[in-house]
Amino acid sequence: MPEAKETVLEIDLGNLAHNYRFLRSKIDPDVKFMSVVKAHAYGSDSVAIAQKLEELGTDYFAVAYVEEGIRLRENGITKPILVLHPQFTHFEEIIEHCLEPNLYSQKTLRHFIEAAEKLKQKNYPVHLKLNTGLNRLGFDQPEIPEVLELINSTESLKVASIFSHLAASEDWQERDFTVGQIDLYRKMAWQIMENLDYEPILHICNTSGVINYPKAAFSMVRTGIGLYGYGNDKTVDPYLKPVGTLKTIISQIRTIQKGATVGYNRVFKAEEETRIATIPVGHADGINRIYGKQKAGMYVNGQFAPIVGNVCMDIIMINVTGIDCAEGDEVIVFGGPQHPVKLAEAGGTISYELITGIQRRVTRKIIPE
Ligand SMILES: *Cc1c(COP(=O)(O)O)cnc(C)c1O
Repeated sequence: MPEAKETVLEIDLGNLAHNYRFLRSKIDPDVKFMSVVKAHAYGSDSVAIAQKLEELGTDYFAVAYVEEGIRLRENGITKPILVLHPQFTHFEEIIEHCLEPNLYSQKTLRHFIEAAEKLKQKNYPVHLKLNTGLNRLGFDQPEIPEVLELINSTESLKVASIFSHLAASEDWQERDFTVGQIDLYRKMAWQIMENLDYEPILHICNTSGVINYPKAAFSMVRTGIGLYGYGNDKTVDPYLKPVGTLKTIISQIRTIQKGATVGYNRVFKAEEETRIATIPVGHADGINRIYGKQKAGMYVNGQFAPIVGNVCMDIIMINVTGIDCAEGDEVIVFGGPQHPVKLAEAGGTISYELITGIQRRVTRKIIPE
């Protein structure tokens, strides 16, 4: 086994390219592709990921917060960037950095018009979010006349896109609900477009939308998790390649006798002679306490080693009894032999939460295509 040096999150840009091409192949070539790179590109590295996606030909980016968009602009990203959840205190900054806001309420629309007029903008691109049943952000159908009135009251902005978000695109049992969302979206979008003399981009599909409802791609799709290698479905996962692999190293190995305990609160008690390896990763790195007490494990030289005792802040102990290994050997937390979805499930969570939870103190290592 190669000697690892510390805990690292490897980010494989070849896998990203594979996933991008797979998702692109699901939709017509003239449908635009928006890459969602919020939350440090789902816990990886938003700059490296966005640069690669720009090279691959993505048409648009989406981030959640203004700060995330500014970071991309400061690192040379030139494609348009939608900010999904801006606060109106940041609207002037949005314009200064050529970012494009999601406007989801009459209040945000009014405030943005004010900012755009103050900065003497003309036809500034904005995105209107429609609520079709997720009940999170967005205009409800009865508000459309007021929205149109506001938009037509100013020269300062232009509707670059009209979009909505599906509540359960990965869940076949909710198919009727999803089809209903798509129908309502189409109706609402048409109602707005009838009153514009240009054609905004239309988009409702996230990753599972692309996979399960490709006919609802409209003129753009908006995918996040699929780019990072997760299909929200066991039949889709094999076609995608996880971009991130979290690796660490064995710091120390000891053999304890029957009756000895391991870790805080003495939660693990050896029932026989047991070999314990200590590794430098803990809940402060994003591997939460929920994975402790043998709920989950890691891979050492190809073999599964369960986590024993409580997960500490910076340290986890694993049971390596019977595994040929030494101090300094590599430990795989997720990736390779351990599909991250399997680890997430062991902790009662989903891939999204596991990968976005890997803290910034973990070194990121970019592996080029
Ligand atoms: C995060 C997000 C996405 C991406 O969804 P995935 O399931 O990761 O593809 C798309 N649209 C909106 C509005 C989001 O917040």
